[in-house]
Amino acid sequence: MALTEQEKKEYMDYFGGQCPKSECKSKDIHGGHIEMDGSTAWAVVRCDTCGYKWKDVFTLSGVEDIEIRKPIRLIYIIRGTTKNETDPLEGYPLYWSNEDGWVDYDSADQFSQEERDKLNLPMNGEWMLARGE
Ligand SMILES: [Zn+2]
Repeated sequence: MALTEQEKKEYMDYFGGQCPKSECKSKDIHGGHIEMDGSTAWAVVRCDTCGYKWKDVFTLSGVEDIEIRKPIRLIYIIRGTTKNETDPLEGYPLYWSNEDGWVDYDSADQFSQEERDKLNLPMNGEWMLARGE
């Protein structure tokens, strides 16, 4: 026999959780896997006491970001270590650019860990960790 409106209402009042048949009300119920079609989803649920089967219907109720953990990527730059790689006026250290040679920090080339492992340093240069991102 189909569920009455009253049985459906009571089932919803309990947020599922027990057999909707008024003569049963067993909590021994088990849902199958959830199927989806667009913004609606449903699962067939069965009462293990009386054997009645019905369908729980779900509606999309919100959206939230999931947290994605990105692998940390280290960025290296090359810093000069002697007076020759120092800005003559300001006195701050200079950094390496493959195209322009020794330049200020903002113009320096950035290198990945892989590049750091296989590239040769320019004369008087040393690796420096710029940042991890
Ligand atoms: Zn039942």
